[in-house]
Amino acid sequence: MTLHEHATPAEKVAAMGSLPAKVDVKAPLVSQEALTEGVFKLTAVAPSIALRAMPGQFVQVGVNRGGTLLRRPLGIAEADPATGHVSLIYRVAGKGTLALSQLKPGDEIKLLGPLGHGFSTKAKKPLLVGGGMGLSPLLYAAGYLLGHKTETDVLMGGRTEKELFWQQLFKECAKNIHLTTDDGSLGTKGFVTTILPELLKENGYDLVIACGPEIMMKNVAKVCKEHDVPCEVSLERRMGCGLGACLSCSIDTVSGRRKVCKDGPVFPAEEVFF
Ligand SMILES: Cc1cc2nc3c(=O)[nH]c(=O)nc-3n(C[C@H](O)[C@H](O)[C@H](O)COP(=O)(O)OP(=O)(O)OC[C@H]3O[C@@H](n4cnc5c(N)ncnc54)[C@H](O)[C@@H]3O)c2cc1C
Repeated sequence: MTLHEHATPAEKVAAMGSLPAKVDVKAPLVSQEALTEGVFKLTAVAPSIALRAMPGQFVQVGVNRGGTLLRRPLGIAEADPATGHVSLIYRVAGKGTLALSQLKPGDEIKLLGPLGHGFSTKAKKPLLVGGGMGLSPLLYAAGYLLGHKTETDVLMGGRTEKELFWQQLFKECAKNIHLTTDDGSLGTKGFVTTILPELLKENGYDLVIACGPEIMMKNVAKVCKEHDVPCEVSLERRMGCGLGACLSCSIDTVSGRRKVCKDGPVFPAEEVFF
């Protein structure tokens, strides 16, 4: 690994080869807030993960209550090596995330990570395209890239204005934010793919990074291919271990069988059979 001028502490440490790539730590919560109905932002103290995390990576989260044995995968929404804080943004989907949402500052979670293979960070003019909880890892990507002198534009879609609370979170770290809603209550009426062709034609993006519902990523990948712009997608599968051992998240790709947790979750779009 060669170090560039703006290498993060994580890159420096990885380059020195002195630390394992991932750690399993107990992390006390410093805050937990509801962002909208059923969606929470949790911040925990996990310096060794904050130091290593790259955009697009995730953690396996363990909660000592709610009867959930298996840990749950959540994308990293923010990681600050200076404070040691790691934030996760999640929707309550079942008993694991419900138990997580009931924790208070001072309570402890278990975090294993950072895991997986994240987004490329070398593009000069990337466009981030997201929907739903897929915007969470994109938030970290926008912040990280800005810290490395790369401005990003963001295109986000939701069913209604209410789902686009994300725009407030991206305000600090994205240059231009483009919005679409299915019902036209905010931004352009339609899907992200309604305005993606125009954005690709006009702005000279050299990479599109997509994260969100699979149908959205499939259609984003198609538009990118038509406009000859490389595209990366972040896949979501049910996962057991998150370490590549249990094989429960295996998928077929153009280059053979891959594990979403270890080889992904980020893949070049052209590798994926949607
Ligand atoms: C790499 C990765 C990153 C993720 N990042 C985020 C994130 O940043 N924010 C967020 O809100 N969610 C994220 N998820 C999804 C999250 O892991 C699931 O919502 C969570 O595991 C549900 O656990 P539970 O115990 O609350 O629900 P369960 O009781 O286990 O399941 C409730 C419902 O959610 C479905 N479900 C559970 N796990 C998944 C999954 N992995 N993919 C699709 N459907 C699932 C189940 O089929 C069921 O219908 C991510 C998933 C992966 C694989």
